[in-house]
Amino acid sequence: MRILVTNDDGIHAPGITALAEALRALGEVAVVAPDRERSAVGHALTLHHPLRVREIGPDIYSVDGTPTDCVNMGIHSLLAERPDIVVSGINRGANMGDDVTYSGTVSAAMEATLMGIPAFAVSLATLEEEGNYESAAHWAVKIASEIYKRRLPPDTFLNINVPNLPLESILPPLVTSQGRRNYEGIIVDKIDPRGRKYYWIGSGEMQFLDVAGTDYHAVKHGHVSVTPLHLDLTNYASFEELRSWRID
Ligand code: MN
Repeated sequence: MRILVTNDDGIHAPGITALAEALRALGEVAVVAPDRERSAVGHALTLHHPLRVREIGPDIYSVDGTPTDCVNMGIHSLLAERPDIVVSGINRGANMGDDVTYSGTVSAAMEATLMGIPAFAVSLATLEEEGNYESAAHWAVKIASEIYKRRLPPDTFLNINVPNLPLESILPPLVTSQGRRNYEGIIVDKIDPRGRKYYWIGSGEMQFLDVAGTDYHAVKHGHVSVTPLHLDLTNYASFEELRSWRID
């Protein structure tokens, strides 16, 4: 089994090291990751300047680009053979609900899916540098080997979130839906030392609507959350209503 590992926290983040190490139990692991933290860059692709690559170890490459750039570089340029699976993470911080659209971690798995390669993103629900990354790595290995055995449904990739708990305290995986964020109070405005106003997005507490069956609910109750995602964002349920509109 050939595995490509990437992330959005950068090649030196503790999560990617734990992930790559654990996945070596399953096969050959290559790491292609951003040379610095690129969290919340979403699915951005670098088109207007060149990319530089550094080989910092055997089959370990850093790229001065986004997670999506790394998946592209890995598959189309750096790896000798096409990987059987792409695993993105372990992200420092959960990627749940509406946040998946901002997430570089999730977007890397999305990019692999576009290329027809099975993929999943894995995130640990803590913002601390020192987290239970080995718990998330353990579940990533289990999920990777299951995907390899069974294949994923077409156009589907998985978004895995793991509670920040010791392995023995984590409850079994639940298949969940994407939760909903509460967007109130996310912009903080203050005055800088020179008397000018500044704004900061995304400050304050993470607030999700606590709905049973969602990723947030599962992780909050100590379960590994497995959300199947797909790339077709079309809302088929709205077709009939929209066709009834008369837009002339
Ligand atoms: Mn990140």
